Amino acid sequence: MPPEDSHLSERSEKAAKIIAQPGGFKVCESCDSIVTTRVALCPNCSGYRFNEEAGAVIEQARALAARAQTTVTHQDLQ
Ligand SMILES: [Zn+2]
Repeated sequence: MPPEDSHLSERSEKAAKIIAQPGGFKVCESCDSIVTTRVALCPNCSGYRFNEEAGAVIEQARALAARAQTTVTHQDLQ
């Protein structure tokens, strides 16, 4: 299996886990990363404002999964 494919399925799996358990995650309002509710600061941008709404977490997880797919497709075309 090419590395891109395993990376994609890894991301999709992660997204599925987040969607199944949105209460354990929150969305960084600065960089749109999904982080666990245990962190106080975003590990990506050190932001401290988060959206903890389950609906927002699920929406962002789906967007990230879709973005991963777009990236792979884009690489395939090059
Ligand atoms: Zn962030």
